Amino acid sequence: MKDTIVLYSSIGRGHIFSVVELGKLILTHNPSFSIAILIPTPPNSTAIDTTIFGYDSSITFHHIPIPQPPSGTALSPPSLIFHLIRYGNHNLHQVLQSISKTSKIKALVLDFLNYTANEVTNTLNIPTFFYYTSGASPLCALLYYKTIIQIKTEDSCNYLEIPGFPRISKEELPSYPEELENIFLDIVATMSGCNGIIINTFNALEGRANKALQEGSCFPDESNPPPVFCIGPVISVPGGENDENGCLSWLDSQPSQSVVLLSFGSLGRFSKTQLKEIAIGLEKSEQRFLWVVRSESDEESLEDLLPEGFLDRTKEKGMVVRDWAPQVKILSHDSVGGFVTHCGWNSVLEAVCEGVPMVTWPLYAEQHLNMIVLVKEMKVALALKETENGIVGATELGDRVKELMDSEKGKEIRERVLKMKVSGVEARNEGGSSYVALNRLTQLWKGKDNLSLLSPNS
Ligand code: UDP
Repeated sequence: MKDTIVLYSSIGRGHIFSVVELGKLILTHNPSFSIAILIPTPPNSTAIDTTIFGYDSSITFHHIPIPQPPSGTALSPPSLIFHLIRYGNHNLHQVLQSISKTSKIKALVLDFLNYTANEVTNTLNIPTFFYYTSGASPLCALLYYKTIIQIKTEDSCNYLEIPGFPRISKEELPSYPEELENIFLDIVATMSGCNGIIINTFNALEGRANKALQEGSCFPDESNPPPVFCIGPVISVPGGENDENGCLSWLDSQPSQSVVLLSFGSLGRFSKTQLKEIAIGLEKSEQRFLWVVRSESDEESLEDLLPEGFLDRTKEKGMVVRDWAPQVKILSHDSVGGFVTHCGWNSVLEAVCEGVPMVTWPLYAEQHLNMIVLVKEMKVALALKETENGIVGATELGDRVKELMDSEKGKEIRERVLKMKVSGVEARNEGGSSYVALNRLTQLWKGKDNLSLLSPNS
């Protein structure tokens, strides 16, 4: 029976791709394992076609149907993703039992959003690891959340000293609804008691946070914190995406490092007012741009959404595409020299791995924390300032884009991120920090026979 590592992805394209890439990385490192990837299928959605991942027979995919929540259950969007997974626990239990009939489950790695699946792994006594799909620095803040809540209420204290995180004022801390804060505390409690935490980052990028995690200083209640493995950068390069909207051939015709990409993840949408400000700002900046536009309303055309004549006036210098573009391929193109990003962690790593400096525009989830780290700690990005009504004005956007692409400060940032790109490669190479961490992890999985606790016949 083959030793199997089960990876349970969360819902959403970014998470699934990242988990698949982790599976491939584990296999490259230790081909004696087999990998089972579990993908939750939410109610009223079609199961993802796993053939798009291009994998070998050592990776198998299993769908975990998530049933409809009982009628009358009120679930609000930010916490919905956490609750839905719990509804699928019965199906998860069955799938794990079925896998264990033909293989020895050595560990189950949970995407951290799936923390409620821990109830099943506890019942089945399977060693549980977490895969944190964002950076080590926001993880430090998450683990420290109980203390953060306390400090937030103390008037005498204006600054927060979070181990592994840059010093920030209370105002800089993003605020979350209470329901979500309670979920954070549950995640922390579950993570603190797990067998290990895997993070998609590398030591040279987040040395301070990695140190705090290794030393355990951000686990305030834990005398024996779990081991942490920084194994990144793990970048997913989805295959099969041809140049549908012509971005890549357009980039071919642009000068080296001249184009700034604007792209805001899988969920970033803007109002018509905001889109107009961006357009005016880009025109003012006089920089070349490739802009992926996603609006709050799908009905209106680009001509309706953008200022009159904008597309025509900028057609020599800019390209605007609707909804989705092959971001990894764009960032790796020689013509791209800057990136206005919503600070989603995959986007950040993709930019770092291609040596592309950033302008930060955080929108949701932990992205404000990522922004703080990118600007204050790593110094690989310039921050955009919003006005009080939450809009980024045209002048601010234009000035920051110009500063990034055409100033001494922009040049320094580019040099820093290029160094980081080299460090990322070194981290993954044999003997590098991430290689060593992955080695430790796979040795742990291999070595402990008692990690295989789910008996084939249970
Ligand atoms: N992405 C893409 N094209 C787009 C927008 C996003 O390929 O037009 C990819 C991007 O390269 C990244 C992922 O989608 O791999 C988004 O993940 P991230 O963590 O940056 O943000 P999220 O979508 O989770 O907020």
